[in-house]
Amino acid sequence: MHRSDSLEHMAIEKLTDDLARKIAAGEVIERPASVVKELVENAIDAKSERIDVELAEGGKTGIVVRDDGLGMDPSDLDLCVARHATSKIHHEADLDAIHTLGFRGEALASIAAVSKMRIVSRAEPEEAHRLEVEAGVAQPVRIDSRATGTTVEVRDLFFNLPARARFLGTSRTELLHSSRAVQRYALVEEGIGWTLRHGDREIFSAPRCGSLLDRIGQIYSVEVAHAMLSVEGRLGDIRIRGYVSRPDMRRGSRKDQLFVVNGRAVADRGLSYVLASAFRGILRPGSYPMAVLHIDLPPEQVDVNVHPRKEEVRFGQPRQVQDALSAALLQALSKRAAVAPLPARDPGSTAARPAPSGVTRGSTTSYGSALPFNLQTAMTASQAEKEAEKVRGRDDLRVIGQLQSTYLLVETAEGLDIIDQHIAHERVLYERLQKQLGSEGISRQMFLLPARVEVPFETAAVLSQHLALLEEVGVVLEAFGGGTFLLREYPRMLAEEQTRRGFQELIEALADALREGADVKTALFDRVLRELSCAGAIKAGDRIPLAEAQALVEQLLTLDNPNFCPHGRPIIRSLSREELDRQFKRT
Ligand code: ADP
Ligand code: MG
Repeated sequence: MHRSDSLEHMAIEKLTDDLARKIAAGEVIERPASVVKELVENAIDAKSERIDVELAEGGKTGIVVRDDGLGMDPSDLDLCVARHATSKIHHEADLDAIHTLGFRGEALASIAAVSKMRIVSRAEPEEAHRLEVEAGVAQPVRIDSRATGTTVEVRDLFFNLPARARFLGTSRTELLHSSRAVQRYALVEEGIGWTLRHGDREIFSAPRCGSLLDRIGQIYSVEVAHAMLSVEGRLGDIRIRGYVSRPDMRRGSRKDQLFVVNGRAVADRGLSYVLASAFRGILRPGSYPMAVLHIDLPPEQVDVNVHPRKEEVRFGQPRQVQDALSAALLQALSKRAAVAPLPARDPGSTAARPAPSGVTRGSTTSYGSALPFNLQTAMTASQAEKEAEKVRGRDDLRVIGQLQSTYLLVETAEGLDIIDQHIAHERVLYERLQKQLGSEGISRQMFLLPARVEVPFETAAVLSQHLALLEEVGVVLEAFGGGTFLLREYPRMLAEEQTRRGFQELIEALADALREGADVKTALFDRVLRELSCAGAIKAGDRIPLAEAQALVEQLLTLDNPNFCPHGRPIIRSLSREELDRQFKRT
């Protein structure tokens, strides 16, 4: 560009309406999935009970969204594609408390500007009417026929914006974006029945249903629904409800995490962080829980008008919202329901499990079941935890034996728990180390005769780099030249056991952990703590006295998270009395 030349000639001109429309549309409408999103949101705002979406070529040549909502009368139909025309807010004050998904009044105008659009709509008691628009230019409204509701058809998206059209993906890619969007709305609105079709293929269908858990079953699978933990909580005006997956069912990415603030799916780093923190030490780094979490609060405490596509919100008091979510997640993960039940083996039949409806999971009583999770009175998470401890303490648990020097058999009020002794102990050690690290620091024992460890050259380099960090977790190593290190101090709680085992393998495992560890300090600490507690724990194959086993189980049950080891493996499996009775045909 010849900058200096053009400067002299640069005069301000008003953009033509057509060009201004296209520029504005580009901000809201990026690809077919953005159209689907806007049309679906309008259908939800119109109180539909059923929404059908049909796409052709991934939505590039055709998008149809049909609803049975309130519809529009002819005068509304005439206005709906004008810019800044909305029925959802009327006064500036309405912006402070928005109850609908839409409010900007620009979606239909934007879509109409860059496609060929036809809307057929009927609002009782009127007749149905039809509006056709091409590249923003509308025809007069005409009479048509259909039942109450609205159908919006969008053909040839970006036909007049070839630059944008060229950047669209293949039909498959575009379909994927749209179907993910529709599935997310389906997870938010279980009271609406949904279908998505591509050409003559049905991509998915989710009939109206009565509970979020049923909807999770429809969208993912019945197995996934069975492995969800219910999350419930309240802090002042903030209410949390929804589900997270049990840690034994993890995903490789964050894409199955959905936060819904007052009915609107949003991306929020603070909330994602709280979810990740709740699962820290339960899931391996790189694994993520599934989640559908509703956060409901008075609308005046959220600003939804901060993002052109309304995908983010701003909270008046973000800390409070995060605390509410955090407490609810902590509570959900410490519950008895987080224990994976033994898969039922029914010798007589291969009958499928019943579809989840409400709470159908085998065992839902919790070690903290008598704990009233009433945060109205602003109980802090740690107070709640103390309460939970009291309740757990009352539970009658009796270790009745050790199976093959590996599993502890525990009689409970509900039946039998089978506990993996190694990972149970690992979990106990891990949580204690973590608590110490977070408070007064990990207490260390000094060795009179330091242990000597020899490692390969490359391992030595990794260790030398991290001596300070290791010291913080209680491992004081001194480089002695070459690949030799002297271990001078070690976490007190682990020292005796580890001395018996020797330190060679452990130090190499620590070096591996440091090598592959993330560079965030907390993640690295976490990794090292897991390694230390694993090494220091009772092994499978160790015989232990019953009294020691009993003490271990009792300690385990006072933890924040007794159900999963720091690597995400289940610690407890349970077999209920009912299940036993079924197996022996007592019922
Ligand atoms: P917004 O949703 O922000 O109000 P839109 O451009 O998406 O703006 O829609 C403009 C108006 O058209 C809406 O306020 C609503 O009155 C009407 N409308 C759009 N779609 C529907 C629908 N499916 N059913 C009923 N009314 C609709
Ligand atoms: Mg809208």
